Amino acid sequence: MILKNLVCILLFSTFSFAATSNNYIWEKGYTFLKFLESYNIPASVYWNLYGEDKELTAEIYAGVRYYTLVDKDGSLLQALIPLNDETQIHIFKNNDTYSVDFIPVKYFSSTNSIALAIQKSPYQDLVELSGDTNLANEFINIYKNAIDFSKSVIKNDKLALIYHYKYRLGRNFGNPEIKASLIETNKKPNFLFAFNDGKYYNEKGNEVTGLFLQVPVRNARISSRFSLSRMHPILKVRRPHYGVDYAAPIGTSVRAAASGRVIFAGSKSGYGRVVEVTHNNGLKTLYAHLHQINVKKNQSVKAGQVIGKVGNSGLSTGPHLHFGLYKNNKPINPLSNIKSTKSVLSKAQKKEFLEIAKNYEDKLRIAIMDNFSGESPSYFAYNKNVNRY
Ligand SMILES: [Zn+2]
Repeated sequence: MILKNLVCILLFSTFSFAATSNNYIWEKGYTFLKFLESYNIPASVYWNLYGEDKELTAEIYAGVRYYTLVDKDGSLLQALIPLNDETQIHIFKNNDTYSVDFIPVKYFSSTNSIALAIQKSPYQDLVELSGDTNLANEFINIYKNAIDFSKSVIKNDKLALIYHYKYRLGRNFGNPEIKASLIETNKKPNFLFAFNDGKYYNEKGNEVTGLFLQVPVRNARISSRFSLSRMHPILKVRRPHYGVDYAAPIGTSVRAAASGRVIFAGSKSGYGRVVEVTHNNGLKTLYAHLHQINVKKNQSVKAGQVIGKVGNSGLSTGPHLHFGLYKNNKPINPLSNIKSTKSVLSKAQKKEFLEIAKNYEDKLRIAIMDNFSGESPSYFAYNKNVNRY
């Protein structure tokens, strides 16, 4: 009887202190400030953040899945809001005050492979087999500069892919990352392999996905570089810096780094006045802290076209342009893409790359064999004659 009562009390107390976890999709136009407001959290939680941290809250993008934990009164205990695949905002209640921190996203990843013989088009067949339009888009993107699918691919050409998927709290998140791929054209294999610099190279180690950016502010000094984890000089905490800062006087012209279409022109919390331009290959550039915006949403812009003026909106530090580059919402280093020629691997990098490529090539072969057992994929015959090294 005593035991039974104890069980009842325990059950009751668990129930009465039960917190509810939820997950939601971040809506377009939703901001970190609106989020705080919706949970009756004082706006000072945002305003008291250090400048760089305010900047980071502006990185939250529409469509991302975030998690909340609320008590029975609806008061927020904790929230996790990803900025990208690697870093998330952690808001937590401690006594009656709220704190904000930036912590790594914990995830599992799995490696998948796909092999198919083309029936309709590489895009349609990939969507039908994987159910994933992101994967199919990424495949088209990485080959964009190498193959004209509409002309060179015919029915029954073989295609194989090895890709990584990230899983978090039982769901996949972020975009699939293609590690290696192969598509036949004219009975010849076209390989692409991802290297650790985020670019794709063919089996000989030549870059095929050229992305050429212009400097967005001419003759300006770089005051802060891209970093996934830089030590803050004053706060002594590690924070990412998802862009390059160019120090320049207010009013200096800011130019589109590549041709594209304006997808955002307006204010974005810690980034102040912002222009975002979408380009080919799932790429986006971001120009922040502008004094003036010279373009409108949906407007097409040419590389080098003036899109705004340098300012210090959204920040209290000196005037500069914060320039960001993203691939499928993942920040990448703009400086390694400002150039006029394709990347050439050093001798040591090439050795490392060729080992990775060889390993993946074997795996692609296995993927094809698993799917077309009994059939002899034609590229094997050609592959024997390809002198790779
Ligand atoms: Zn910056």
